[in-house]
Amino acid sequence: MSNDIPKQNLTSPFDLNDDGYVWLKGNLHSHTTNSDGKPEPQERVDGYVNQGYDFLCVSDHYKITRTDTLTAPDNFVLVQGAELHPENPFGGQTHHFLAYNIDEDMDSKNMPPQHVINEVNRQGGSIWLAHPHWSSVNILRDTLPLTGLAGVEVFNTTCMWHGRGESSVHWDDWMNLIDRPLPTLGNDDSHAREQDNRDTYQGWNMVRVKERSAKAIIDALEHGSAYASTGPEIHDIQLKRVDDPGDDKQVVEATVRCSEARRIFAVCDTYGNQYVTDGTFEEATFTLRPNARWVRFEIIDPEGSKAWSNPFDLKKIGR
Ligand SMILES: [Zn+2]
Ligand SMILES: [Zn+2]
Repeated sequence: MSNDIPKQNLTSPFDLNDDGYVWLKGNLHSHTTNSDGKPEPQERVDGYVNQGYDFLCVSDHYKITRTDTLTAPDNFVLVQGAELHPENPFGGQTHHFLAYNIDEDMDSKNMPPQHVINEVNRQGGSIWLAHPHWSSVNILRDTLPLTGLAGVEVFNTTCMWHGRGESSVHWDDWMNLIDRPLPTLGNDDSHAREQDNRDTYQGWNMVRVKERSAKAIIDALEHGSAYASTGPEIHDIQLKRVDDPGDDKQVVEATVRCSEARRIFAVCDTYGNQYVTDGTFEEATFTLRPNARWVRFEIIDPEGSKAWSNPFDLKKIGR
């Protein structure tokens, strides 16, 4: 079992009953001519601005693309970061980590992975496991020996083109091994130009924040005040304990409200549930299994696009 220390307690974005919050949309994984991406950095930024996004990280391989070399409207947030690749001493492929809110470059290629994680955290940054399915990561072998990662990228558009875009099994596996919920990201990992219509504007994060700043956005993601999507909107998720009619125990009942859905899944560490009915719907209520420790929700819309909620710690749902 890992000695991993919880970096954050997760807070549902739907429990923040304060009018000062706004939802922002953004992509936190993109490449440019500063590494192996096709567009110049400014062209990459302009594309996401023109598509109505609120934030972007130009996360080139190994090296920070500095936000002060880029221009964007005042209300658009540029998150400074990089994708870092320490070697993997545990037997798997080279690591892919996304580092945000860092200011100093490091020689990640020649550093042990734990040193890279420590250095990002020392700088006050945030470091996440990118696309573990595409990278053939085995969580037990490659990730569990490490401490200080914030969470995992569950969806990655460019990896989807290679048939390995979704890493939900890795996410669930990791949470089960450390017995606590971990927050998630959904990103494009855009390398191509937008006119190639390949890996731009298809996977994003919706983040609930009080201010438009890189710090507020990354804090909200680390706290789970966000969800990932390729289309559907999640409007509300509420959980409460209710009496189990067939038993003398209490169970958790979950209600999800969202944009038009065809299916909703309640994914637990025990067995999941599916909500499906004739036609489409915008609300579903689940009774979760009594021994489940965490639950997260996946919403599928009529076109097959998907949203992933952050997980909820069922031990913390009041009795
Ligand atoms: Zn990568
Ligand atoms: Zn990448």
